[in-house]
Amino acid sequence: MTSITLSLPCTNPSFLSSPKRFRFKLNPQIQSSAQLSPSPPQTGVIVIGAGLAGLAAATHLNSRNIPFLLLEASDAVGGRVRTDIVDGFLLDRGFQIFITAYPEAQKLLNYKTLNLQKFYSGAQIFYDGQFHTVADPLRHFIDSAKSLTNPIGTPLDKLLIGSTRIRVLAKSDEQILTAEELPTLHLLKNLGFSDSIIATFFRPFFGGIFFDPTLQTSSRLFDFIFKCLALGDNALPANGISAIPEQLAAALPPGSILLNSKALSLSLDPRASGSPLVRMQNGDVFKSELGVIVAVEEPAAVKLLAGRTGLVAKKPVRSTVCLYFTANREQIPVNEPVLFLNGSGKGIVNNMFFATNVAPSYGPPDKALVSVSLIGLFEGVSDDELVGRVVEELSGWFGGKFVREWKHLRTYRIGFAQPNQCPPTDLKKNPRVESGLYVCGDYLTSATFDGALVSGRRAAESLLKDIALTPA
Ligand SMILES: Cc1cc2nc3c(=O)[nH]c(=O)nc-3n(C[C@H](O)[C@H](O)[C@H](O)COP(=O)(O)OP(=O)(O)OC[C@H]3O[C@@H](n4cnc5c(N)ncnc54)[C@H](O)[C@@H]3O)c2cc1C
Repeated sequence: MTSITLSLPCTNPSFLSSPKRFRFKLNPQIQSSAQLSPSPPQTGVIVIGAGLAGLAAATHLNSRNIPFLLLEASDAVGGRVRTDIVDGFLLDRGFQIFITAYPEAQKLLNYKTLNLQKFYSGAQIFYDGQFHTVADPLRHFIDSAKSLTNPIGTPLDKLLIGSTRIRVLAKSDEQILTAEELPTLHLLKNLGFSDSIIATFFRPFFGGIFFDPTLQTSSRLFDFIFKCLALGDNALPANGISAIPEQLAAALPPGSILLNSKALSLSLDPRASGSPLVRMQNGDVFKSELGVIVAVEEPAAVKLLAGRTGLVAKKPVRSTVCLYFTANREQIPVNEPVLFLNGSGKGIVNNMFFATNVAPSYGPPDKALVSVSLIGLFEGVSDDELVGRVVEELSGWFGGKFVREWKHLRTYRIGFAQPNQCPPTDLKKNPRVESGLYVCGDYLTSATFDGALVSGRRAAESLLKDIALTPA
């Protein structure tokens, strides 16, 4: 077993300019251990997990010139936000949408270089054998006016959507995330929405966002997403959803991220209290003198932090299956960048869209990419059977002439898509486990891209506060 001690760099002027604030001294042995080790030689903080939360934590440490090492178990950064390139198509690992109004994302990301491609602000709902438009009246006034008499909800429902918008816009994010909560379904009923709009619109739309068709997810999440949707656009980066974590990673110092590096356990160094040791799957041991931020997903955090926190993953976790098909561009029935929702209450498809209509860069020039999402894992149903059922169902939506020509490309079964965020929730959980040990991840805030970014910042801030308070 190799023991690797990681400590502060002596190259960082701003870090050295305030050395009295930090508890440790430059250790001459560090340089020799660094020379022996193939790993990046020096750091102050170890961050475990390079999803959005870990990347955000690293970004904040970096902005304060605090050295760190980011350890990631898989072969790339991004965690749940990954894109594969298959036969020239960009396949996001599950249907994911970036909402441009996410407040933390606005501070951290460069939207221009993400080259965001927008969805239509609304949806097409398959109900009673045909499609019906739901449109944002502020962005698509005419479509919205035309939809007033369609069977997706009553005219009162359409007014209530407007008043819900005003209600959420009047609250700060802080107020929303700490408000009295109840299951989203109860909130919608209390607000006066009809059973019909809940079944045909809210269930597939928000059920698809939360991977929870029962709409038991906290009203705090509903209000937060509703507000972001009111303020921003739904979009995809032209280079795939993974462009978001990749942008964050690209701004970190070279060599600060170790891929294929799985942490197995944490313990305290008996010779230096407060310095956690991180034991790796390959037998290496890393020691950080400033602290460890555990930025892994909830089920992995429960294992890594066993015995240190009362953390238990609430059940059931949220799962999804995403199937991709390809077609020639003339084999798809629409060209609009619109989301299709299943409001029929029948079948297994929750939502689908033609990804190349939103972002043509998601496929080769003459080809279309079709993305179909189901809620749940469909364990016990084979991939072939799922493909058959989806093709059959969508033939009923768009006609077999089109759909039977599509070629299945890949199926993603995502067992842990999101943590369960049914009430009671605490979306502002304290990231500090103990001095030197901090946690972040979407399970500590809202289970969204934005929540993950916020949690990473909070963990870094908590660590920085502790080291600022520690006497030299
Ligand atoms: C299919 C899908 C669709 C989604 N759609 C949306 C959406 O439209 N909008 C939205 O806002 N959010 C969406 N989300 C949620 C969003 O992706 C997550 O909330 C967010 O990415 C979580 O980031 P995280 O950093 O907390 O966790 P993760 O992304 O899970 O990152 C944790 C990282 O830790 C690593 N790790 C785990 N164990 C170890 C270990 N022992 N050692 C080292 N590394 C380890 C993992 O490999 C991973 O990279 C979606 C999620 C999924 C799966």
